[in-house]
Amino acid sequence: MTTANPTPASYDNDNIFAKILRGELPCHKVYEDDATFAFMDIMPRADGHTLVIPKNPSRNMLDVDPKDIAAVMETVQKIARAQMTAFGAEGITIQQFNEPAGGQVVFHLHMHVIPRHDGIKLKPHTGDMADGDLLAGHAQALKKALGTSE
Ligand code: AMP
Repeated sequence: MTTANPTPASYDNDNIFAKILRGELPCHKVYEDDATFAFMDIMPRADGHTLVIPKNPSRNMLDVDPKDIAAVMETVQKIARAQMTAFGAEGITIQQFNEPAGGQVVFHLHMHVIPRHDGIKLKPHTGDMADGDLLAGHAQALKKALGTSE
């Protein structure tokens, strides 16, 4: 066994999700409130795969303020329920990765919320990029299920 790193890496303000929150990079937004933001995963593991993030900076579950976890989980539940309606889902998988050894690739805390159907396996993590129009349609379907579509 190797010795654990005693100094965890710090939050990088220029990570992709920080840029999305600042509007510097585009995304297919699904939902937003004072503390959280939800948008379509660009490489979905299943149709409707959504990411929920806190607006406050945190790298992952190891440094996040518990209040931000609570806010994120409230939004995760909203999105999961909307996915059941919008995608006729039979179940929901929620995933979250911490640090490179834990499978994390983007270092702003995020929860993966993924609609599931019986017998359909998930596509690979960070696999193929989805078509933009398809993601826009999925975001719209979720907004409709949330009752927030224009
Ligand atoms: P992980 O950090 O392991 O949870 O993986 C990062 C996730 O972010 C993957 O599912 C990617 O498909 C997703 N992702 C990366 N860049 C973007 C982006 N610009 N917009 C939406 N999702 C992204």
